[in-house]
Amino acid sequence: MPRHDLSFETMAVHGGREDLAALGVHALPIDLSSTYPLNDLARGGEALELMAMGGQDKTNPVYSRLYNPTVGRFEEALAQLEGADESVAFASGMAAMTACLLAAKQRGSHVVAVRPLYGGSDHLIASGMLGLDVTWAQPDNIHEALRSDTALVIAETPANPTLALLDIKSVVAQARGVPVLVDSTFATPVLQNPLKLGATLVLHSATKFIGGHGDVLAGVVATNVEWATELRKVRVITGSVLHPLAAYLLHRGLPTLSLRIRAAQEGAKVLAQKLKDHPGVKAVHYPGLEGGDPCGLIGTQMRGPGSLIAFEVENFDFASTLMGSVKLMTPAVSLGSVDTLIQHPAALTHRVVDAEAKVHSGIGAGLLRLSVGLENPEDLWADLEQALVKAMAKAGAHA
Ligand SMILES: *Cc1c(COP(=O)(O)O)cnc(C)c1O
Repeated sequence: MPRHDLSFETMAVHGGREDLAALGVHALPIDLSSTYPLNDLARGGEALELMAMGGQDKTNPVYSRLYNPTVGRFEEALAQLEGADESVAFASGMAAMTACLLAAKQRGSHVVAVRPLYGGSDHLIASGMLGLDVTWAQPDNIHEALRSDTALVIAETPANPTLALLDIKSVVAQARGVPVLVDSTFATPVLQNPLKLGATLVLHSATKFIGGHGDVLAGVVATNVEWATELRKVRVITGSVLHPLAAYLLHRGLPTLSLRIRAAQEGAKVLAQKLKDHPGVKAVHYPGLEGGDPCGLIGTQMRGPGSLIAFEVENFDFASTLMGSVKLMTPAVSLGSVDTLIQHPAALTHRVVDAEAKVHSGIGAGLLRLSVGLENPEDLWADLEQALVKAMAKAGAHA
């Protein structure tokens, strides 16, 4: 039973561990079984049928694509943190997004989406590969994009990579009863809970903050019983399951999630201000800066601005020199790790997004995205500053 009565930090430590004492263990057990002994053929067959339709039979897992207790414990814990009935874990964030779209397609063949989204999600939706039509809407004209066969409204906040914030309550109101999926990867359940604002599904690339150490690929969707059942059905059919070792690592990290998010956020606040004051930086997009949260969502929808910063420099060459000159930070895609990563969205994570949409969303040649880790912010700034000096010198030499 989900325990929504406890505080976040307590749920993060104890969630999904309710059965451990009865098992006689203290740490999370890792069950690597691919198959399970069947004590009774008739019961086993019934369990298989139930789970093939998206139901759950924890006492009779039958086969690990249908149910795995290590994955199940992580799902229970994550559902508690989002205030959801249930959550369903997948092999990656993209597998989770694919499952949501396939489940939605049972209800209608049209989706409405608000850009910018993560480049991979944009690519999946724009490709039409799953047989869904898409209408790209502006945050304030979602209702105009709805059709009678609209099955899902998809939004991401804070948005990857621009850190633009969407008002989830407004999106839900405009969707007029159509289920809303919020990709909350950048916020994690520490900083916002979209379901409490009326969203039906909240998706996380758990590869990022929830994993938190850059060593797991995973996705998870927290939702109501009805959608969770549909999502498990898709997962059983398509086989996009999360490996139990990955689930163990995710679950092991939950007790420190809040500490990691808040510490990284303090570092990001320092760096965002220093970047803003630097002559080599044209603009900084960070919801924690003055003017970075025009709708006033920090403190209402979100409990803090998080630890991602987008900033603009002169052009691609400047950005490329800067990225190539950092010594402490890692020039790499992905985010939400204990260490700091810097990347160029237009060339990398959002490369495959439609060119016009990229311009319209503000994903330009001079945009860089910084995922601030747990290093001391003064050390990070020293690294960033020397890289900015190098990029400025090179740009000056060519001017
Ligand atoms: C990375 C990311 C995804 C995709 O997740 P994977 O685990 O890489 O498949 C989806 N949404 C957002 C916002 C992301 O940053």
